[in-house]
Amino acid sequence: MERTIKCACDKIIAIFIGDPKLRTICHCRDCRKANGGDDFQDLMFCNINQIKVVVPRDQLIEVPASEYKDECPRYFCKDCNTFIYGDVSQKDGRPMALIGPMSVLTPTLPNMKPSLHMYIQDKVMPALPNDGLPRVESLSKSPYGKELMSKL
Ligand SMILES: [Zn+2]
Ligand SMILES: [Zn+2]
Repeated sequence: MERTIKCACDKIIAIFIGDPKLRTICHCRDCRKANGGDDFQDLMFCNINQIKVVVPRDQLIEVPASEYKDECPRYFCKDCNTFIYGDVSQKDGRPMALIGPMSVLTPTLPNMKPSLHMYIQDKVMPALPNDGLPRVESLSKSPYGKELMSKL
């Protein structure tokens, strides 16, 4: 299945192929910064090859890896600043990417609920919601990280 990745100004930035592999609520500083200062980011993980950018590269702002603790460059719409994706593969060669919130995907995935809260030690929300989701300090050190790797 193909979906479009649209930014807030309604441009089709990329085509997304298949389904994301994992959806999480991330509380880390990098995600909060990428999300324009919100308290958390609704984030999805996928294989980098599932994202085909269809706009000319100069329509995207690349914020370099050096700006983020997780050392992944992130890409934003030049006009509305919507976070589109982060390229994990440029960090360590794993074919992984982060994509922005569910709202960027059209059509969305109504049945794909977040699986966990992560980087809870960095949270700025006074309290996490009572949603029953597991809470981990990092994805890679949790069983969810291993599971994700096996799906990429
Ligand atoms: Zn994060
Ligand atoms: Zn835009």
